[in-house]
Amino acid sequence: MKILVIGGAGYVGSHTVRQLMSAGHEVWVYDNLSRGHRQCVPPGRLIEGELADRARLISVFRDYEIDAVIHFAAFALVNESVNHPAIYYQNNVIATLELLEAMRAAGVWRIVFSSTTATYGQPDIVPIVETTLQQPINPYGFTKLVIEHALTDYAHAYGFGCAALRYFNASGASADGSIGEDHDPETHLIPIVLQVALGQRDAISVYGTDYPTPDGTCIRDYIHVDDLGSAHLLALQMLKPSLNLQLNLGTGHGHSVHEVIQACRRVTGHPIPEVLAPRRAGDPAELVADSSLAQRTLGWKPKYVKIDDIVQTAWNWHQKHPQGYRS
Ligand code: UDP
Repeated sequence: MKILVIGGAGYVGSHTVRQLMSAGHEVWVYDNLSRGHRQCVPPGRLIEGELADRARLISVFRDYEIDAVIHFAAFALVNESVNHPAIYYQNNVIATLELLEAMRAAGVWRIVFSSTTATYGQPDIVPIVETTLQQPINPYGFTKLVIEHALTDYAHAYGFGCAALRYFNASGASADGSIGEDHDPETHLIPIVLQVALGQRDAISVYGTDYPTPDGTCIRDYIHVDDLGSAHLLALQMLKPSLNLQLNLGTGHGHSVHEVIQACRRVTGHPIPEVLAPRRAGDPAELVADSSLAQRTLGWKPKYVKIDDIVQTAWNWHQKHPQGYRS
């Protein structure tokens, strides 16, 4: 297939692009580079453009004879979404609706969409299944849920074939250490802890130790970015007109913030000092996936299950690229 990967210069997007190309697809990356990196896009594959630019997207779909879209381009920070909801609604909702209309105008009907565990809010029961009530507790989760609903409606009314993949915590880096996670500013737990191990920060701040979890810190399900990539490839191959999938992507194993820091200590051999800090706005206590539906539907299985193995790939990347893509 000829695939337009929107946001393919970002973290999950860039890893997925590699897998799509290895599988023999013709891949183009459409990105405005506002948060992505030119360096992680394969040579000659970048089309610079705005998600909200419907006319441009229509011409790209026609000129490149695109068969399918994978849509990664979104703002994805819970805390930022609480403080700056406007940019989340503008980009994640309004600009994405422009994309859907561009697809409709150009007759492109296949889309795999980056959704998120944040659409569930704080469920009473974990692990989380796809039928768990979606009640987001932050603007980021709401914006993603709006688009899930739009996709359902587009599948029903216009015959779109859609897969909304609800990621849990994307983490790790490519096995060869050539591409990885690089956000500015970095807000995610594992890269920040590894920056402490690299001597770039003095300590890791643990955001909240009074959550209703065994050690009082938040529990998350860390899923390797290459396992997310393989799920996108499988989902894309499954899409049929009017098919509308929503699938959780996680390992099914939860790790507390303290446990992740311990894993980083084991992998790096660095003592990694920690300091206690107040809770971060919008953080639910525990998010762990039941991914059995994705496993059954896609024939997918995460290759990385142990947190130490995931951290090891991230550590390889950070050691080789201590300043990220600027290294
Ligand atoms: N976290 C932390 N210190 C940090 C960054 C994150 O304690 O410097 C916690 C955060 O509160 C959350 C977990 O680590 O409970 C994972 O956060 P991250 O930002 O990596 O992913 P999120 O779950 O927000 O998507």
